[in-house]
Amino acid sequence: MAKSTDKQTQLDKIKAEIISEKICPELAEGATQLVFGNGNPDAEVVFIGEAPGKNEDEQGLAFVGSAGKFLDEMLAEIGLKREDIYITNIVKYRPANNRDPFPDEKAAFLPYLRQQIEIIKPKLIVTLGRHSMEVLLPGLKISHCHGQPKRYKGQVYLPLFHPAAALYNGSMRQTLIDDFQIIPRVLAKI
Ligand code: URA
Repeated sequence: MAKSTDKQTQLDKIKAEIISEKICPELAEGATQLVFGNGNPDAEVVFIGEAPGKNEDEQGLAFVGSAGKFLDEMLAEIGLKREDIYITNIVKYRPANNRDPFPDEKAAFLPYLRQQIEIIKPKLIVTLGRHSMEVLLPGLKISHCHGQPKRYKGQVYLPLFHPAAALYNGSMRQTLIDDFQIIPRVLAKI
């Protein structure tokens, strides 16, 4: 079996488990569907956001709304397309009214996120915003460490601001665009 087909089969199993094990039933109840993650299972880079929003909940795909469009623009600037990367969220059902995910919700989904990472084995994990950063790189502050690659327990991470937060904030927007340029440089060094 081709490598990526095999990985996709394993990812599909994790997705089915989240449903069969009824993770965060209240969140699931309020959501249209699970947004597990999508992209290339052989990707060198995995991007991890916070939780699905309205568009993601409707389409079942991560980062397909305005934050996703901004992300696509920044990917294009560094010569990457969605087909080159894998993208997911720490929390995989849309929280009502786009509220921040609760700590217990992030904790409930973390083992599944870890399994996704273990299957894909990316060179680099880019965390988008503080929610995914806090679960994977505990104790860091996004305002201090954005754009600084970190090696933690053998994995390389790059914490970045969340594109939704940066979209309409001039200085944060430019910082995120600048920080994105670090991705190819880090990848070249790993
Ligand atoms: N914001 C996120 O954190 N994730 C998405 O999938 C969309 C918006």
